[in-house]
Amino acid sequence: MFRKILIANRGEIALRIQRACRELGIPTVAVHSTADAEAMHVRLADESVCIGPPSPRESYLNIPAILSAATITGADAIHPGYGFLSENANFADMVQAHGLTFIGPSAAHIRMMGDKIQAKIAMASLGVPLVPGSAGEVIDLDQAAKVADEIGYPVLIKAAAGGGGRGMKVASSADGLEEAWRLARAEARSAFGNDAVYIEKYLDRPRHIEMQVMADSHGNVVHFGERDCSLQRRHQKLLEEAGSPALTAAERNALGGVVTSGLSKLGYRNAGTLEFLYQDGQFAFIEMNTRLQVEHPVTEMVCGIDLVREQIRIAAGEKLGYAQKDVRFNGHAIECRINAEDPVTFAASPGKVTAFHAPGGLGVRVDSALYAGYTVPPYYDSMIAKLIVHAPTRIEAIARMRRALAEFVVVGVKTSLPLHQRIVEAPEFIAGDYTIHWLENFVGQ
Ligand code: ADP
Repeated sequence: MFRKILIANRGEIALRIQRACRELGIPTVAVHSTADAEAMHVRLADESVCIGPPSPRESYLNIPAILSAATITGADAIHPGYGFLSENANFADMVQAHGLTFIGPSAAHIRMMGDKIQAKIAMASLGVPLVPGSAGEVIDLDQAAKVADEIGYPVLIKAAAGGGGRGMKVASSADGLEEAWRLARAEARSAFGNDAVYIEKYLDRPRHIEMQVMADSHGNVVHFGERDCSLQRRHQKLLEEAGSPALTAAERNALGGVVTSGLSKLGYRNAGTLEFLYQDGQFAFIEMNTRLQVEHPVTEMVCGIDLVREQIRIAAGEKLGYAQKDVRFNGHAIECRINAEDPVTFAASPGKVTAFHAPGGLGVRVDSALYAGYTVPPYYDSMIAKLIVHAPTRIEAIARMRRALAEFVVVGVKTSLPLHQRIVEAPEFIAGDYTIHWLENFVGQ
């Protein structure tokens, strides 16, 4: 097992990883920007190192500073969390080159899945069903028009290097193709420095369903079931559930079987999530995330497993120690992502938190690095807390989420709490009857 783990992240996920390390008896090193000197992840770590100024590029994305921090503190492994360097294959390579362990998959698999075109080609060869679309990169507008005619409008132009919902534009007819093509490429170039794009059929009423997988380096692969992440705004998830209200146990097992056999053939290691769109009883792969995800707690609650602990154990070479038949799904879990933002305009709302009270009680979990007196900095993601509830049934989980949201107090910054309160009262949500497009219409009301 590792001597000491450096956590190359901030906020709630840095705390989440610290908690797993502490339970495993492994000391932790926090890294932080000058803006985060007072942050909870720094206060609770065994050691901390300042790695640069507030700008992420100069701190949380500053590879030399992070590797130096690991070296001077004697850490022998790095957990990247999500975001920042978590899907940077060069970082994973450099961590290994420095004689440290990257807690995650191999750099080769990160690289493969980071290019969404390569990811789709790889998944197709493993027998995983795809969203209909171009066979690979689409290089010019003529080819785009040909592909769109073949698969039929509406189509979606997507960036090969895409992430965070950026570099994605819909063309509803041939008339809109040129503009969507131009906008998608421009956005991809400015966001990712790579304007390679591909085309998919734009599905009009899918759900976003993803499978959580864990694989060790001894050839064992298991899945922990699905999450339904259809409640999105601008392709960003706001509320997630495990399991999906739309799937039967048979569908879950069938998809789980396809996914685990595919990743086993690939020789994949550590945590991963395969994302699918689900419509008319069909699953279609869209991308794979080679890291821990924001919404992992809903899976932990229903499976009763600590996914970060598993990531660490696997990275240290240990075996999973259980088979698929040992993974049980108990009850239902829901997560609300609480952001520091205006609940109506969605404008970010950084600033000083003057009062903070987190809900509690049976089946309630709050993953947050917030405290009264903390100033939410303007430089990073606006998510300030994840509120997760678990109950024997979905309807009880919704009731629990309602009462937990009502207990949650954050004063000083605006938050998305009022929006979540509206969502959990909406008849479509209660009925489990929603697609990826539902929330956009709902917030517009
Ligand atoms: P990113 O990596 O930017 O998150 P994804 O490929 O995971 O991009 O897609 C993000 C979201 O965009 C999906 O969850 C879904 O809501 C929407 N989306 C992606 N592809 C399609 C498609 N072909 N049709 C309809 N919606 C899509």
